[in-house]
Amino acid sequence: MTTPELPGKGLWTTSVGSMPKPDYILKARSQYARKEIDRSELKELEQKATREWIEFQESIGTDVVVDGEMYRGDMVAFFAEEMPGLEIGGLVRSYGNRFYRKPIATGPVGRDKPMTVEWWEYAQSLTEKPVKGMLTGPYTICDWSFNEHYDSRRDFVLDLAKAIRDEALDLERAGAKYIQIDEPAASTRMDELDLVIEAMQIVTEPLEAHTITHICYGDFHRAYPKMLEIPVDQIDLEFANSEYGLLEEFSDHPFTKYIGLGISDVHTHEIEPVDEMVQGIRQTMKHIPPERIFVDPDCGLKTRTTEEAKEKLSNIKKAVDVVKAEL
Ligand SMILES: [Zn+2]
Repeated sequence: MTTPELPGKGLWTTSVGSMPKPDYILKARSQYARKEIDRSELKELEQKATREWIEFQESIGTDVVVDGEMYRGDMVAFFAEEMPGLEIGGLVRSYGNRFYRKPIATGPVGRDKPMTVEWWEYAQSLTEKPVKGMLTGPYTICDWSFNEHYDSRRDFVLDLAKAIRDEALDLERAGAKYIQIDEPAASTRMDELDLVIEAMQIVTEPLEAHTITHICYGDFHRAYPKMLEIPVDQIDLEFANSEYGLLEEFSDHPFTKYIGLGISDVHTHEIEPVDEMVQGIRQTMKHIPPERIFVDPDCGLKTRTTEEAKEKLSNIKKAVDVVKAEL
């Protein structure tokens, strides 16, 4: 377990993944859908938006930056569109008021070309800071898809795991030192947590990079401490949204990995004051040393406005600086 290319001794800042898309991207995406602009025109704008988010993260001193996913619609559909064996189905409702196109497994699922490497390389070319490789985990892709091909969910998940592992290996070859494999669905079904673990083992086993998984909106209290068996260096969790409730569990069962500490609720317009975030970090440090803490928002910020996202990220950095000054 290492933290390559990071300054200082802990309390690093990062983001979970997605950032809000500027209006010109939303407009360009619908123009592209109506065939009014072509792929290269859309891509040029996606690159511009990526540059702006990298510049913003640099400007506030974020330690591990993300590309902001300007080129992705939904975190599962993006991968499903690229993978043989998966087709994109009709719109279904997910949690809250979000709709997404639910993929369907219609044949053996695999990967025939890199899916994220070009975007990672583009983002990394813009900054000296490490850029995280961002992948959606096999269990979540399965859980958010229909299955018309496999006899069991396990067979489906394990094929997905091999495809995501190959993508992770390509990211690592390109130079990624941090690779995040998102499993938001991991803590929703306790009887399948072993399958999450088995699949993640396939993905991370050959990797040298610092590996992370992000889990959200499930039942953390039931999934803990079992979730510590997920073979990654770091688990990223939402704390602001749950008023740091999970910290109580850390007294009985110490948190043994690096933590991604979500200290800003992504479901509210409210910008948490720096003081409140500072309290959250201090509380966490009673259980986990700063050398093992990364600080970030609870989840991807794509549902917030650009202004809200920037204010939340700026406050996170300010809160971290306050705590660091006390150390
Ligand atoms: Zn999340």
